[in-house]
Amino acid sequence: MKAKKDIRALTRDQLREFFVSNGDKAFRGNQVYEWLWQKSAHSFDVMTNLSKATRDMLADNFVINHIRVDQMQRSSDGTIKNAVRLHDDLIVESVLIPTKTRTTACVSSQVGCSLDCKFCATARLKRMRNLNPDEIYDQVVAIDNESRLYFERPLSNIVFMGMGEPLMNYNNVLKAIEKITSPEGLGMSPKRITVSTSGVPKLIKKMADDAVKFKLAVSLHSAIDETRTSIMPFNATFTLSDLREALVYWYQKTNSRITYEYVVWEGINDKREDVDALVDFCRFAPSKVNLIEYNPIDDGQFKQASKKAIEMYVDQLEKNGITVTVRRSRGKDIDAACGQLANKS
Ligand code: SAH
Repeated sequence: MKAKKDIRALTRDQLREFFVSNGDKAFRGNQVYEWLWQKSAHSFDVMTNLSKATRDMLADNFVINHIRVDQMQRSSDGTIKNAVRLHDDLIVESVLIPTKTRTTACVSSQVGCSLDCKFCATARLKRMRNLNPDEIYDQVVAIDNESRLYFERPLSNIVFMGMGEPLMNYNNVLKAIEKITSPEGLGMSPKRITVSTSGVPKLIKKMADDAVKFKLAVSLHSAIDETRTSIMPFNATFTLSDLREALVYWYQKTNSRITYEYVVWEGINDKREDVDALVDFCRFAPSKVNLIEYNPIDDGQFKQASKKAIEMYVDQLEKNGITVTVRRSRGKDIDAACGQLANKS
């Protein structure tokens, strides 16, 4: 028997064409599209404005591959982590992060990761596959539903800071964002979406050329090549000067300020020269720095730097007119914090 196709891989136009080629009206395609994306239908049976014959015909030709939230864990600070089962039984994780006024979804873009950041738990899972656009979209919908249920408000922000390197799954991430922002999907503003990358220069330039409207965050962690390569080995290929050039290009094309994510570790990047290099790096394009707390991933190789070192960073950045925030981790007790997503359960 021929394997049935996932109907959600079809664009709206392809759906319309499918109906026309089956002797039906094109607008049926719109109806189905709305069921699939706006109403997140899990089966053809619920599509009640279609005849039974049409629904059966769809079920004969297609499947609707949906994610399933297998397990939901709640942290003492309100953070929720979903273990999400995909149609082929692989698992990714996504996180709901509540604050007083906002709900942020942290979503995954790949199963595992192909990069090899030494401090990140996800890097220890080899990259198994890219997520499809609908699998990314579904994570967002699941968190939106949880936000409405537990916090009585819709999801307000999305960060691509879960498992995987979003730019290594460029097309699918962009397609997912298109659905998230389109009126037929969730209608969210792209300004509330941040894509975080470890810094793939060629693809940062491509995003600029594609005139994307979401925000960009770059996991910098060091502005000195030797140091950065020692903790993020791909930096040997994607060097800081290439990254810098790409970021300047990004800013010229988009006018959108860049956020640098940065963890300060004892003995790695806690010296004055590390701070000075960062300050220099920030001068090339308007940017701000987010100092992230380190979330240990069990091996003891990395240790959060002293308070004094963090203060030195904050001081020097502020002195040089660079906005800096110190971000506390959320959801640590359930392994839901940055860099801790590794399907432990
Ligand atoms: N691959 C993307 C997105 C995933 S990681 C990227 O690299 O940006 C999201 C953020 O968590 C990145 O800034 C990453 O460097 C950071 N991170 C990874 N491991 C961490 C850890 N153990 N503690 C704190 N932050 C970590």
